[in-house]
Amino acid sequence: MKRDDCIFCKIANGEIPSRTLYEDETFRVILDLGPATKGHALMIPKDHADDLYDLPDQTASAALVLAKKMMLRMKDRLQCDGFNIVQNNGESAGQTVRHFHIHLIPRYVGDGQQIGWKVTNPSDEELNEIKDRITGE
Ligand code: AMP
Ligand code: ZN
Repeated sequence: MKRDDCIFCKIANGEIPSRTLYEDETFRVILDLGPATKGHALMIPKDHADDLYDLPDQTASAALVLAKKMMLRMKDRLQCDGFNIVQNNGESAGQTVRHFHIHLIPRYVGDGQQIGWKVTNPSDEELNEIKDRITGE
């Protein structure tokens, strides 16, 4: 389902024009207007889902297959050296548009972008506690 107040619903369904790289029944892939690198694209499902928690399994599965297809094509056409696949869920994780999307970010040697995190140094106890919390009943 589409939401009237959602900009990515409008873009994905063609109500707002975008630089479309690919389209099928389920997804539209567009160029990001604030690209990290040359070719930075967004994969947007046509049906609204807030985030990955909210995305139907079938769409989630199809998304990774399409990401691979787009990456292969873009690698060939853009001659990029690497790729980051980024997918943010929730404000704390950097999600600014509350309609699920996947960033496809081509990387070039020396592009100067930083996509990553600061490494932390938890104790063995902390790591064990986290493991138990996730795996325990
Ligand atoms: P996120 O921070 O993961 O929610 O990513 C949102 C992304 O959407 C950012 O990279 C924005 O540059 C991009 N964006 C927002 N509005 C538009 C738009 N109208 N067309 C293309 N990209 C957009
Ligand atoms: Zn939406």
